[in-house]
Amino acid sequence: MLIAEKFVSINGESRRAGQLAVFIRFKGCNLSCGYCDTMWANKEDCPAEDMSPYDIYSYIHSTGVKNVTLTGGEPLLQKDIKKLLDILCSDRSLYVEIETNGSVDIKPFIKYDVSLTMDYKCPSSGMTDKMLMSNYDHIRKNDTVKFVCGNTEDLKAALEIIDRYSLTAICGVYISPVFGSIEPKDIVDFMIENGMNGVNLQLQLHKLIWEPDRKGV
Ligand code: SF4
Repeated sequence: MLIAEKFVSINGESRRAGQLAVFIRFKGCNLSCGYCDTMWANKEDCPAEDMSPYDIYSYIHSTGVKNVTLTGGEPLLQKDIKKLLDILCSDRSLYVEIETNGSVDIKPFIKYDVSLTMDYKCPSSGMTDKMLMSNYDHIRKNDTVKFVCGNTEDLKAALEIIDRYSLTAICGVYISPVFGSIEPKDIVDFMIENGMNGVNLQLQLHKLIWEPDRKGV
């Protein structure tokens, strides 16, 4: 499996935000979002470490950190992802999150005791037409749908999807700003105006703690 970077930091943007987490960032993505902040990891010439699923587990184990975030790129497109999940899920001390971009079928993965954070790509990403809407039939209570919003059009799209699928009754729902494109207070105003109960505004903690474009945090 091709790993673009691996590191320990705090979880910046998910259910365990603020807690220590070990991150495994896979190389390569099938999308090309306008605001992508990890595009470097999706390029052909990005240096990557070739690790087996067991090597990855050994690294995770060596850190002593119990929250694991598999990210990318797109983790669910990795050839050996199921082997890795078999290994990680057999260690009951770990809490595993997978960040997935909403275009890949999650059905083959819902048998695993992991928490999926699935994006819905709003219009400013340029990737809305790549969203696989059948995924909303499989989303579970411990999963999260995340809307990264850069403007009011994005917020309206998020609201429409949240309502259409009654997401707040099914799973976690997060709205996160495109860093530098929209003020968080404008998101709060939109949430108030539209009575968005059960929706969480989430700021990307790592971008507030470190320089916004810093890698490995
Ligand atoms: S899905 Fe994620 S990694 Fe892929 S291009 Fe979009 S933001 Fe970047």
